[in-house]
Amino acid sequence: KYHNELVELKGNIRVFCRVRPQIKEDGSGPPATKAIGYDQDDDCVLYVANKGRTQTFEVDSLFTEKSTQVQVFNEVQPLVVSCLDGYNVCIFAYGQTGSGKTYTMEGVYGDAGINQRALTELFTIIEERGVEWQYTISVSVMEIYNEMLRDLLSSDPSYKMEIKRNQDGSLYVPGLTTVPVSCLDDVNETFALGKTNRATATTNMNEHSSRSHCLLCVTVTGVSKTTGKKSIGKLNLIDLAGSERISKSGAEGSRLKEAQSINKSLSSLGDVIHALRNKQGHIPYRNSKLTYLLQDSLGGDSKTLMIVQVAPVEKNVGETICSLNFGQRVR
Ligand code: ADP
Ligand code: MG
Repeated sequence: KYHNELVELKGNIRVFCRVRPQIKEDGSGPPATKAIGYDQDDDCVLYVANKGRTQTFEVDSLFTEKSTQVQVFNEVQPLVVSCLDGYNVCIFAYGQTGSGKTYTMEGVYGDAGINQRALTELFTIIEERGVEWQYTISVSVMEIYNEMLRDLLSSDPSYKMEIKRNQDGSLYVPGLTTVPVSCLDDVNETFALGKTNRATATTNMNEHSSRSHCLLCVTVTGVSKTTGKKSIGKLNLIDLAGSERISKSGAEGSRLKEAQSINKSLSSLGDVIHALRNKQGHIPYRNSKLTYLLQDSLGGDSKTLMIVQVAPVEKNVGETICSLNFGQRVR
């Protein structure tokens, strides 16, 4: 309960940072030089060493190489639970390819990430509140690639989904598959189907996942058994495309288009959150598919969490600083 109060105090936008441990891809031989340092007194401050200069960054929560999936989820839990009270929530994993976005969101076999833990938590609390509330949960899985939207729970691998506006101004995707889930087995089955469909018509899954955004959208509807009061909340869990700057000089044709699409959507996302944070009158939702689709979950009394993922070693320091600057701008 203390946790929930703390979250309220922090406002609607927060930025976490997670530093992944060194992995063999970072290079063998002498241990790859570490570029990240931590503050002894302030556990929300990190230092990045770059060409003899040290830059300081502050975040709302910092997870080091040693942090576990459980520790990360504990900090995210209050946000997740607030969708049961009718809030719309977005949790983004941002960072260069290989920085641990998918590890944090999906996790690995035997050590689940936020997605599975969030659904497990929702089922537990629904059970606890069962005397008073009747809840239903449904999920959709989507992908945005080259500014095109695809339903990953449909067997049709084409990117043909459109975003439409209801008369009340809310947005919806006609024909989008939504699957009711009532236990973790349902969820895992649905995730697995989404993954299989995502891989269909894709020759290199690693490359493809680094160039597309993957969205898991959970809708929670509750009806009070005593008053009939209704609540609808959404939890959007988003594994973003890699944020690395793709050198434009070398890119041509389809690669150039991909790079431009990723740039466009990540910078639009930054612009939207920045505009919300600064209470600007015009919020540029329409500048990308991602922000347009998530419009009713970004802003208003919605809650947004950006998890900036970084790699710990020197060779990634340029991208690490870019990612942390992105986090700083929206915080
Ligand atoms: P991204 O999705 O950002 O491209 P991944 O999540 O695939 O990055 O992570 C890259 C590699 O690092 C994977 O092999 C992953 O298992 C590993 N990794 C990432 N974060 C951690 C972590 N916190 N602990 C252990 N291994 C990690
Ligand atoms: Mg990934």
